[in-house]
Amino acid sequence: MKRTIEDIHKGYSKKDFSPSELIQEYLSKIKNLDTKINSYTEVFDDKVVKHAKELDKILHKNENNFLFGVPISLKDIFLVKDEKCTCSSKMLKNYVSNYDSCVYEKLSKRNILLLGKNNMDEFAMGSSTETSFFGPTMNPWDISRVPGGSSGGSAASVSAGFSCASLGTDTGGSIRQPASFCGIVGLKPTYGRVSRFGMIAFSSSLDQAGPLANSVNDAAIILDSVTGFDSRDSTSLNLKPTNSYNSLINDTYSFSDFTFGVPSKLLEIGLDDEIKYKFDELIKNLKKLGAKVIDIDLPYAKYAVATYYIIAPSEASSNLSRFDGIRYGFSEESENGDLIESYINNRSKGFGEEVKRRIMLGTYSLSSGYYDAYYLKAIKVKQLISNDFKNAFSNVNSILTPTCPELPFKLGEKKNDPLKMYLSDILTIPANLAQLPSISIPLGLSNQNLPIGIQLTGNRLDEVNLLKMASLLEKEINFTKELPKF
Ligand code: GLN
Repeated sequence: MKRTIEDIHKGYSKKDFSPSELIQEYLSKIKNLDTKINSYTEVFDDKVVKHAKELDKILHKNENNFLFGVPISLKDIFLVKDEKCTCSSKMLKNYVSNYDSCVYEKLSKRNILLLGKNNMDEFAMGSSTETSFFGPTMNPWDISRVPGGSSGGSAASVSAGFSCASLGTDTGGSIRQPASFCGIVGLKPTYGRVSRFGMIAFSSSLDQAGPLANSVNDAAIILDSVTGFDSRDSTSLNLKPTNSYNSLINDTYSFSDFTFGVPSKLLEIGLDDEIKYKFDELIKNLKKLGAKVIDIDLPYAKYAVATYYIIAPSEASSNLSRFDGIRYGFSEESENGDLIESYINNRSKGFGEEVKRRIMLGTYSLSSGYYDAYYLKAIKVKQLISNDFKNAFSNVNSILTPTCPELPFKLGEKKNDPLKMYLSDILTIPANLAQLPSISIPLGLSNQNLPIGIQLTGNRLDEVNLLKMASLLEKEINFTKELPKF
């Protein structure tokens, strides 16, 4: 059985184990088994063992801090002072951060045990963790398949028990889709809830950090510890940290308190048969349990993928311009000392194919003459999609869909077909464009033992109710299947 944050907290209170004993358990699992999964870019063995020893001494003083001594990993996109932050790119393979990200700063104040950095798609561009410079991550449920992406290393490590929870980022689905593929919980908060300070930018108007965890309660505990205003991020919302865990465990609520909306037209895009069957069964059950389920329409959501693939590459082309080998990143001596040539050389060799494709797409849609036709138009459609959600939330508390239209696919299956890869995010991207909180929880397994996830999208800043609905569903679904041996 995998341990949740709540289990670890209880274990410490009852003195079942010490931080040092617990960290050894995780480290030896990683050492023995991560060679098959490749979920880490770096493990901080010595440092975390030393930290655990310090925590051994103050264990009894931390009864109210659920994160005390909890082994956690971070997607390799979050800066941790004096540690490498590679974004799984050759461009940053030797880059060492000289300050902490806000997310890590907050977690370290809670005395988490930082196990290391998780593998990811290069610069968070991808849905399969196959674009990493350090090689792909494998899905612990079936190592011939992808774990999803871009936070695939985070999802695989939590799913395999190589960390108790991980922080990922979600620009178009990168927390929820890998959570779904790996049979765990993944939460993308409302845009602006979590500071982006010290998180390497992909698409700044969409990027949002959030937890990948073993339960809805654990996701809530992490959410509460990383939220709150941060003046170093100009889009950080001026709000106090959330207090969702407390509401989850102390309030009384049931299915009859909530109305779920199902965008059935959007789901006509073609779901995998097993996913469709399981989803329909769930809807029937929900009704039996007293929930109201109504059909809703999100007429513009079908344009979400097209819109996203203008906005995200445009912002990426601007954000990634700093990686030129002079200001940041990989550099090689140029033969004749020509500056332009050295930029070209560094960027051609430092970035992988997918990142270069996005930079070119983005540069094109921002270029003069095309800006109005592409970027400006995309921004307008983004607003229409937001309006769709606003209308829907006047009648429902959350919107329910599968997280992904398909099951975890085979490594290599889509690597050379970017369009197919992009379509995998069709159900996750709308929440990013509308800046809404959205969570994926496990719904069950397919006949081939592959995880299927269900996604709930909540109203702006309504994480508390979103988590309550997710928690009710989690109890009802009761997903307890153990990972097969790998
Ligand atoms: N898969 C999407 C992409 O490739 C989303 C990535 C993300 O959320 N970081 O851009």
